[in-house]
Amino acid sequence: MKCEILCVGTELLLGDTLNTNSQFLAKELSFLGIGVFHQSVVGDNPERVRESLKVAFDRSDMVITTGGLGPTKDDLTKEECAKFFNKKLILNEEALSRLKAIFIKRGFELSESNIKQAYLPEGCIPMQNNNGTAPGCIITDNNKTLIMLPGPPKEVYPMFKESVVPYLKTLSNDVFVSKVLRVFGIGESNAADRISNLLDNENPTVAPYAKDNEVIFRITAKCKNEDEAAILIKPIEQEIREKLGDCIYGEGEKTLEYVVGELLVNNNLTISAAESCTGGLVSGKLINYPGISSAFLEGAVTYTNEAKMKRLNVKKETLDKYGAVSEQTAKEMAEGIAKAAGTDIGVSTTGIAGPGGGSDEKPVGLVYIGIYYNNETYVKKLNLSGSREKIRNRAVMEVLDMIRRKIS
Ligand code: AMP
Ligand code: MG
Repeated sequence: MKCEILCVGTELLLGDTLNTNSQFLAKELSFLGIGVFHQSVVGDNPERVRESLKVAFDRSDMVITTGGLGPTKDDLTKEECAKFFNKKLILNEEALSRLKAIFIKRGFELSESNIKQAYLPEGCIPMQNNNGTAPGCIITDNNKTLIMLPGPPKEVYPMFKESVVPYLKTLSNDVFVSKVLRVFGIGESNAADRISNLLDNENPTVAPYAKDNEVIFRITAKCKNEDEAAILIKPIEQEIREKLGDCIYGEGEKTLEYVVGELLVNNNLTISAAESCTGGLVSGKLINYPGISSAFLEGAVTYTNEAKMKRLNVKKETLDKYGAVSEQTAKEMAEGIAKAAGTDIGVSTTGIAGPGGGSDEKPVGLVYIGIYYNNETYVKKLNLSGSREKIRNRAVMEVLDMIRRKIS
């Protein structure tokens, strides 16, 4: 089956909005083994939307659109798609009652333009929007399939997973089973090099991608049933695990902060954080884990030397002799917060996030992260690069990974 993606929205053409829907859909469709042959963007203009639909359906069996399902005048995807397939738009009672419920909850009146969202092409498969007001829908006609999704990514992603994936699975007798391995502490190209022999594998396929400071490997098997897929995936997974060792921190949807939170709680460990350059981001990440309250006791943002001395008992001589950004200070910070908070573990960060403040001896991107645990303190020196935001975020991930390695 030939598939293509058509994103509707003038904001995409103007460069105001990054077309993340296309990227998301392309990736998800490839995991499902569906070939995407074209991606295009068209503005909110009826003639050009029609023209794009024609071009797309002349060469593809399935077109997935995003955007233009909203209540405003420029949202015209549904109208143009219905016209393209010669379908009338008819009021969908279920969609209308859902809209009414949303508006009652928000305390707003339902306007005419909102009601427009409850009209769907006749004979379509409606797709409920659990994160917004515009329902999606699927039209099939003459071996052509059109899948219409809303614009906002936070609505597109769940609707794709909840409604489109189950629909696409009904089109094929094969099942696609994926296993995701999550890797931290090794760059994408290095990780891919180590398992390069597997990247050309056809079934299962192995696809690496780098995301937010980590690398994700997805193993996807196409089979008649899940048992068969599990048999195919197992040896590939084992080989990846042997080659990447403890750089693999988890599986599936579990993020590094989640894995760390789970380890802390399951091992009945308590933790506190003393942060300088990361300014509370480490605490924030740890607190993202639901149920962390039994483990995370305290976080302190000690940005100045005075705060480091007053709150963490960092010695003045240490700061005078080695400076705030130093191995010694990171060590005293981790020990100081663990003592002050009475926790099993204390972590610390101190560094130069830039863009200013660097020197030859201590350049921008130099960050020390520390961990006190089991009466020992370990400090890691990081030489990071990039923007202030990138340096700070990377340092946070490094702290989480350091905690994981120490306690697992
Ligand atoms: P719409 O449903 O067309 O009114 O789109 C609503 C909002 O979703 C837009 O204002 C954008 O912020 C966002 N959006 C629409 N299309 C995309 C896309 N392809 N990628 C990322 N965001 C989008
Ligand atoms: Mg729009």
